[in-house]
Amino acid sequence: MRAQFLPFCRPSISEEDISAVADVLRSGWITTGSKNTEFEEKFCDYLGCAGAVAVSSATGGMHLALQALSVGPGDEVITPAMTWVSTVNLITLAGARPVFADIDRDTLMVSCDAIRSKITERTRLIIPVHFAGASADMAPIRQLSRETGIPLIEDAAHALGTGYMGEKIGRSGTAVFSFHPIKNITTGEGGMVCSDDPEFLERIRRLRFHGLGADAYDRETQSRAPQAQVLEPGFKYNMTDISAVLGLRQLARIEAFNRKRAELAARYREKLEGVEEILPLADPPCDMTHAWHLFVIRLDTDRCGMSREAFTEGLKQRNIGTGIHFLAVHLQKYYRESMGMRPGMLPNTEWNSDRICSLPLFPDMRQEDADDVVTAIREVLTHG
Ligand SMILES: *Cc1c(COP(=O)(O)O)cnc(C)c1O
Repeated sequence: MRAQFLPFCRPSISEEDISAVADVLRSGWITTGSKNTEFEEKFCDYLGCAGAVAVSSATGGMHLALQALSVGPGDEVITPAMTWVSTVNLITLAGARPVFADIDRDTLMVSCDAIRSKITERTRLIIPVHFAGASADMAPIRQLSRETGIPLIEDAAHALGTGYMGEKIGRSGTAVFSFHPIKNITTGEGGMVCSDDPEFLERIRRLRFHGLGADAYDRETQSRAPQAQVLEPGFKYNMTDISAVLGLRQLARIEAFNRKRAELAARYREKLEGVEEILPLADPPCDMTHAWHLFVIRLDTDRCGMSREAFTEGLKQRNIGTGIHFLAVHLQKYYRESMGMRPGMLPNTEWNSDRICSLPLFPDMRQEDADDVVTAIREVLTHG
């Protein structure tokens, strides 16, 4: 057994990252400023997108997007229930109704057909999720959006560096990224809203800082523009320069990070091939490249006669951490009770919700660590 606990995730923070953060702390300007602007510009360069606005989290960014689109009472928003709870909470808090599309059983992605079947005259927005670092098949979903005039916001929290049909996710349309510590790069907490719609992005920029007409930071005076007026009531979701400088440093290593993730995922796939009780996710059958945010497996609970909880507990006792991404949102207490959601409504989502488990995957892990995970999995399946 491993002597040291292997966490499910650990951010890669170098001494140079720490120095860069310390330099900002010493500089006299620590909130939204020049590092923010530089991070937004470099992010656009990396994705090839028209514009990007840094925010304090992906949740904050999604909140701003819902506000910019005036999603509110009487509206329906289609999204999967296999997602992080933030999206569904925000839809609900806006007074709108989340409408859940079921996912593909083996890729955990929503399909265009699943979305189409949920459209009504009240549908105001579609939020597909790029799951685990792979890409949803966006071409038919974008076509559906054009046909119906219903806007799309892509949840790209898992998809920094993901490719789709020759371009990066975030280059076309509108996408929201997360820099939470478990994501492919981190800023402590943070997020980015990218869009090819300049007017939409201007609204996001304004709404992220109190709805003021001028941005928080005036490059000329190196301080807040004092004459700025409220153009519409806004929020306080700007990113600090302490975070932005970390983001800049991390972004410079994203390709190397994702390469390491891909190598580890390949190792898992190879080593798990003969383990019949373990069902890794399938790659979506579209033209895409994987950012390997997560390595998700499903435990074949019928075959092994063990619950997912007993399985992850067995791994923990062998010093292996795991995660669950995600428990189906529609069956969580509030949504069951307030929306009358019941088991059986989203069969593929629920099947996965009971069986999924994310294995350790982060750039500073070694191949031998992945081998330890597989050894522990085999032991747990044999001995419990
Ligand atoms: C992490 C995550 C979010 C939220 O990101 P934050 O930056 O923590 O707000 C949203 N959606 C998905 C699918 C996520 O994994």
